[in-house]
Order: sequence, then C-alpha cells, then structure tokens
Amino acid sequence: MPLTLALIAHDKMKPALADWAAENEVSLKPHKLFCTGTTGGVIEARCPSLSITRLASGPLGGDQQIGALIVEKRVDAIIFFIDPLSPMPHDVDVKALMRLAVVYDVPLAMSRSTADLFLKGGLLAKD
Ligand code: PGA
Repeated sequence: MPLTLALIAHDKMKPALADWAAENEVSLKPHKLFCTGTTGGVIEARCPSLSITRLASGPLGGDQQIGALIVEKRVDAIIFFIDPLSPMPHDVDVKALMRLAVVYDVPLAMSRSTADLFLKGGLLAKD
C-alpha cells in the first residue's frame, strides 16, 4: 500500500536531499510525497517521475502545514534534512514540527544516515 512521506530540506541541505531522492527514486515512486515549496521544486526538477504535492515554503508556513498533516494522521514518515549550522527565521516552526512528530510517533529522519536506515529497515516496503 502506498505511504505518504514528507520531504523537507533547509536551503544548504537541498542538494543532499535531492541526491538522496534521486538515488532512491525507484523506491519513492509508488508513494505520495508532500514537500515544502522550495524543496518540492528542487526534487521535482531532479526526479520528474515522483508524485509531489508542494505546500507553502517553510518560512511561510510549510513546516506548519506538514505539522497539520501529522496531527491529521496523513503522513507516515518525514525526511527533514535540517541545517544545524545556520540560524533560521522559522526555527520555532521547525521545532513545532519535530515536537508533533514525537507526539504522534511519526518516524522523523533529520540526516542522510537516518533516512538510509528508514529504507534499509523496510519503511517503504511496509503494507
Ligand atoms: P522550503 O522550506 O522547502 O520552502 O525551502 C523548507 C524549510 O526551510 O523549512
């Protein structure tokens, strides 16, 4: 059964997330993807076969939209490549998203190694 995944990356991490998505494009293809606005544009350009719904840009509320999807139980896992070395105007939104992911026990990968573990652990093979 297809899953719903959220893919997000801060600006400096977008190339890394686009690389990860391209390397795993075949595995991601059957699944529904939600992305914050700019991240979605980058991944769409790199992986045209993926079905992506683009939300608002993160600083304009996109992270909060992902948070709402968590509350509505409409997202099965989140891949969020954060930039831990840059200040973010929407830091509070990022923190809220992280908090809701834990409250609702939605798997949240914040780095490439964790995202790889999700796939190796069979996340996308789940029925
Ligand atoms: P963006 O938002 O994909 O629109 O850049 C991500 C974020 O910064 O949270």
